[in-house]
Formats: sequence, structure tokens, C-alpha cells
Amino acid sequence: MAIKRGMKRGLPRMKPTKRCQHPEIDYKDLEYLRKHISAQGQIVSRRKTALCSRCQRNLKRAIKRARYLALVPHVG
Ligand SMILES: [Zn+2]
Repeated sequence: MAIKRGMKRGLPRMKPTKRCQHPEIDYKDLEYLRKHISAQGQIVSRRKTALCSRCQRNLKRAIKRARYLALVPHVG
């Protein structure tokens, strides 16, 4: 058996109640991007961001774009 990681289970997740409007995520919006990047510079998973698949994909694209322009830190 693998040793359990420090992830706490049963935490209330921030699930949006209304339908998502899929807002455009701007790669220049560093305040927003930083909120979805961990301390190690990784993109925060959908489990934690509670974004829909489309928004998470847009976020991923925005973060990768921002990384290329060295606006947010790289990992690895
Ligand atoms: Zn969405």
C-alpha cells in the first residue's frame, strides 16, 4: 500500500452554483494567473480551482503564454 499523502479529504470545494459563462482569460492578467499557480510554479489542478473543463483549458493556455513571455515563473 502506498503511503497516504497530506491531502485532506472531505474539504468543501468551491463549486459554482450558476452555469459558467466561460469568461476569456487574459494572459496579461497576472493577478488572476498567480492565483492559479502553486508556490512551485505549477498550474493548480481542476480539483482545487473548481473550473469547468473549458475554463481550465483557457487558463492553461493563458499561463503557458505568460510563461513563454516570462511573465510568470517556469517550473523544471
Ligand atoms: Zn467555464
